[in-house]
Amino acid sequence: MKTFVPQAVPLADAGHRYSPYACRHAVLATMHGKEEAIAPVLRDRLGLIVSSAPDIDTDALGTFTGEIPRAGTIREAAIAKARLGMKATGLPIGLASEGSYGPHPQIPFVPGGVELMVLVDDMRGIVVSEHLIEDAPVFGHGYVVAGDDVTPILDRLGFPAHALIVKPAESEGGAGNIHKGLRDRTALELAVMSAKAQSDDGRALIQTDMRAHMNPTRMATLGRLASALAERLSALCPACRTPGYGQVDVEIGLPCEWCGTPSLMVRHRVFGCVACPHRENRPRGDGLTKADPGHCPLCNP
Ligand SMILES: [Zn+2]
Ligand SMILES: [Zn+2]
Repeated sequence: MKTFVPQAVPLADAGHRYSPYACRHAVLATMHGKEEAIAPVLRDRLGLIVSSAPDIDTDALGTFTGEIPRAGTIREAAIAKARLGMKATGLPIGLASEGSYGPHPQIPFVPGGVELMVLVDDMRGIVVSEHLIEDAPVFGHGYVVAGDDVTPILDRLGFPAHALIVKPAESEGGAGNIHKGLRDRTALELAVMSAKAQSDDGRALIQTDMRAHMNPTRMATLGRLASALAERLSALCPACRTPGYGQVDVEIGLPCEWCGTPSLMVRHRVFGCVACPHRENRPRGDGLTKADPGHCPLCNP
């Protein structure tokens, strides 16, 4: 790999801030129009010029609709996707995002989502990622049998602004006849009829189509995530000046207010560099320095 010494270039519209990515080109691997939400944010915040590589079959790495299971962690999947784009275009900077939706990780019976975005920079030899938890995704499903009114399900799933998928609830040979990207009521009802006829139990499954261009709520989430990634990329390591400095971990053990025993609450946020071993403890975001005795293993065993 050839050595590259990054030059900070002042951003015309960003006052006194300097962006390590001003006027650089990056490829975003997406088949689902994610550039619509991501490219303007990275252009305005970093001066990074993002183009998409729509010819890449990112679905080959795994899909939301479950026909092809995704391998590895969500971060590994995003890096693999970014590298596909870099390989296809020859650009040394690649971007990709991955999402995972299901039951909320902290709140029972509520849907939630995790979205992760990576920037792979082969000029500096770094990978910078940022993630967020989506508390209010438009994500869900419902079953319909003969005679059911589909309207309540459609309303709950944000139809027609959010596109839906219809398939047989149970069918021999798995996937069956899947209708994706449905936004038209007539087409949806025809798909429901056909899915019921093909299903072993006579039920059709209606679910949200979570591809970004089909789910405007998810698209907006990606815009917020791009903004968080831009923030991290514009933070330079205090030790080596590499971009991407930010929180990498937390340290638990916030001392009990009464007896000082370490509790299971977060004591510090740990900030770190993606390139060098520099680490630094920073206070909690909420400024708390003592734990409520209710969280203490001695005072409240
Ligand atoms: Zn205590
Ligand atoms: Zn560093």
